[in-house]
Amino acid sequence: MNVTIDRVTCVSCGSCRGACPGLFEENPDDSFSQITGKFRSNGNIAEGTPSGELEECARDAAELCPVQIISISD
Ligand code: SF4
Repeated sequence: MNVTIDRVTCVSCGSCRGACPGLFEENPDDSFSQITGKFRSNGNIAEGTPSGELEECARDAAELCPVQIISISD
C-alpha cells in the first residue's frame, strides 16, 4: 500500500492522526500532518508505505479527512 498526503491542503484537523497514530503525525513546524518516520518512502514526509496492521486505519483516515487529501493506492 502507498499513501500520500497533499500537505499544502491540510487543515490540521487531526482526524488522520487520531484514526491512525502509527502512520500520521503532526509536523512540528507547519502543524500539517505527515507520515511517521518509520513508514516514509525515501524520507518523503508526504508519502508512505504502511505495513499490514496499519493498512486498515490508513483507509479509515483517508475516509475521515474532511478535505480528502489522503490518497491510497494498492
Ligand atoms: S485528516 Fe486531512 S486535513 Fe485533517 S490533519 Fe489529516 S490530512 Fe490534514
